[in-house]
Amino acid sequence: MSGYHSAQVDVPVRLNTNESPFPPPDAWLDAVADIARSIQWNRYPDRAVTELRETIARRHNVSPANVFVANGSNEVIQTILLAYGGAGRCVATFEPTYQMYSQIARVTGAEVVQGERKADLTLDALEIERVLTRHKPSVSFLCNPNNPTGIIEPRENLETMLAHTTGVVVVDEAYAEFSEWSAIDLVSEDKPLAVTRTFSKTLSMAGLRVGYVVAPKQMIADLEIAVLPYHLDSFKQAATIAALGFVSEMEQRVDLIKSERARVFAAISDMDCDVWPSGSNFILFRPRSTVASAVWQRMVDSGVLVRDFSTTPRLTGCLRVTVGTPDENSAFLGALSTALSTN
Ligand code: PMP
Repeated sequence: MSGYHSAQVDVPVRLNTNESPFPPPDAWLDAVADIARSIQWNRYPDRAVTELRETIARRHNVSPANVFVANGSNEVIQTILLAYGGAGRCVATFEPTYQMYSQIARVTGAEVVQGERKADLTLDALEIERVLTRHKPSVSFLCNPNNPTGIIEPRENLETMLAHTTGVVVVDEAYAEFSEWSAIDLVSEDKPLAVTRTFSKTLSMAGLRVGYVVAPKQMIADLEIAVLPYHLDSFKQAATIAALGFVSEMEQRVDLIKSERARVFAAISDMDCDVWPSGSNFILFRPRSTVASAVWQRMVDSGVLVRDFSTTPRLTGCLRVTVGTPDENSAFLGALSTALSTN
């Protein structure tokens, strides 16, 4: 096997990992300084993550028993796959999608069944039905909006998944704030549905590593068996509770990202590129008559880093740009235009 690849190159404009371009508010940094002094560093953290789960539960109007928190939504996904994946079971993904689902599933020893999106990268409900009825996966992933395409899934696709699953359905909502609908209100005790969220994107805290899942109580209890004791450190628990006091401030930034997304989309569309409409904070595009890897390299040379998917199966020739600050986006558009016109 090979590991997860996303270049970490030290250039001025980094638009390759879909982070928020804005730092968290100063008031949160002040709170964090106080937290650092008040933590009982010689003691293990609250293993049940009580107060943080209560705070997240209030945000979504569910019980704390419906919430599991981990070190980024990647660790949430890993814990779900430790609980329900493993040898002798199979896990369904619909490609192209976020690569960590199949990567982690294989690490747990599960077989991965890859459903296919259509040539335009949308997902047909009939394909979902085919994969779930034929393979009976114990876990099926739906990424909404999908990474790396940015496409918003029709609700019908989730309904089809829930109608045909004999296992659990995980909706990954890492980018939900930029989208048009969320599945979080559908979570209930009688449905095998889990919805994951992250602090890494809208909430500007990719460096803190926090994500969570809202799911039926039985599923949360299963995850608690699979995860390591004390996996969420005391500092992180307190810093995340403090961060939740700034949610509305950070959500206001979503509007700016969305209007920049429209500007960047329109500008790429005017260039010699195919481009996919996005419900997220990134845009997938494909240079039509210039080799994508050369375009990527020329942009890096001019100080702009985007994500290179040009050799990824089903995404041949594609690049993905994260929507950044207005200045970063202008730098990107300038670099792309130059890269496309260089022979
Ligand atoms: N899901 C999706 C779809 C993502 O794009 C990412 C980040 N690249 C993650 C999950 C993981 O995010 P984190 O672990 O930072 O919460």
